[in-house]
Amino acid sequence: MTSTVVRTRFAPSPTGFLHIGGARTALFSWAYARHSGGKFILRIEDTDIARSTPEAVQAILDGMAWLGLDHDEGPFYQTRRMDRYKEVIQQMLAAGTAYHCYTPKEALDALRAAQEAKKEKPRYDGRWRPEAGKTLPPPPPGVEPVVRFRNPRAGAVAWDDLVKGRIEIANAELDDFIIARADGTPTYNFCVVVDDWDMGITHVIRGDDHVNNTPRQINVLAALGATVPRYGHLSMILGDDGAKLSKRHGAVGVMQYRDDGYLPEAVINYLARLGWSHGDDEFFSRAQFVEWFDLEHITPSAAQFNTSKLNWLNAQYLKATSDADLAREVGERLGKRGIDPAGGPDLAAVVALYKARAGNLNELAEAVAPFYRVGEIPPDLAEKHLGTPARAALAGLGLRLDALPAWEKGAIGRAIEDTLKEHGLKMPQLAIPLRVGLLGVTHTPSIDAVLETLGRERTLQGLARLRLTF
Ligand code: GLU
Repeated sequence: MTSTVVRTRFAPSPTGFLHIGGARTALFSWAYARHSGGKFILRIEDTDIARSTPEAVQAILDGMAWLGLDHDEGPFYQTRRMDRYKEVIQQMLAAGTAYHCYTPKEALDALRAAQEAKKEKPRYDGRWRPEAGKTLPPPPPGVEPVVRFRNPRAGAVAWDDLVKGRIEIANAELDDFIIARADGTPTYNFCVVVDDWDMGITHVIRGDDHVNNTPRQINVLAALGATVPRYGHLSMILGDDGAKLSKRHGAVGVMQYRDDGYLPEAVINYLARLGWSHGDDEFFSRAQFVEWFDLEHITPSAAQFNTSKLNWLNAQYLKATSDADLAREVGERLGKRGIDPAGGPDLAAVVALYKARAGNLNELAEAVAPFYRVGEIPPDLAEKHLGTPARAALAGLGLRLDALPAWEKGAIGRAIEDTLKEHGLKMPQLAIPLRVGLLGVTHTPSIDAVLETLGRERTLQGLARLRLTF
């Protein structure tokens, strides 16, 4: 038995962001290669010069890097492979699997109009197709021909789609499509074929908007004597509202998810479940996904985007990510808000206090920011919460805290309890002024833990500042 190494590819056209649908295609192709110990190839399909931009190429590379979808070969750019496509076109012309067609545009338009009038499917009528016993007219002078593929007339082209099952198309349905334009440039379907062939692709996993291209591509591969890969066409992704996923749903590009505070691992986990399942498992690591991933459990029906599930997963990943890793992410986000955590309490310790409460990295950064703005108290909160009785209790607490031999949660908690008793207050009557007085906010996790993390010096200095200021 010969075993073939699995080779998959992701072949985006760089005409915009790497959107959610593209990222899911990339993920499944990547995961199948990783699962099988194969190779994952990145190919940039940039032959549509008018719509391809270097910014879009960069956005795709950035998106892939952020998601951790590393490729083994490439990126290959189709615009740099023109000579190769032209070479294959020459070979096909020589072999008789392609031919020159001189039909002028006006004649093609007239043909189409006549077919439409008769309610027929518009198709090229094969007038320049060489046939045994057929005499072709002499090429008209001054006309640059296009090159057409000589599609088989009889039989059918069929494949067992890895997602959709068997698909069969009669060759009579397919006309002789153009593989090179009059200016010699190869067309999209043809470049894909040559690339999949040259790159030894064994499994083409792509969106089902390409199903119609597949029979043509298979026929060309067969004409070239190439091994035809397996094809799996992923169903589209619908938005929360059931309509086709679009910009309207905010699904601009994967990097937007980074900006919105999502962790790449959460997005990966979420995308994995968009059209693929492993029993009822919802929360699993990238490594677990790669181990489990197969093509049998991809559903042929459309997947529906569910923002609340993504948010739930993101919160799970925030909890599961180490304090140090989160601190790095949060530190960057604080920096963007003009806050430097360097002079404040240990960011990892502050993050640890809040990470189970935040839905995303931006919320987390928002929550920890007050620890680095000690002393900035919004006047309305000061007025509401720092009246005379509260200030007296805070002063009393300051003395007790100052006398503590060790700065730790248990002892801090006891100092707070003693202060409450002494002043005849309930916990919120002290805890809220304390939060407002030190951090400028009314809500925090448990106050003893907050003071412990803020540290002795900052807490005592903060309380002393309150005595002077109010
Ligand atoms: N370039 C195509 C696209 O971005 C994908 C082609 C393919 O996967 O065969 O939709």
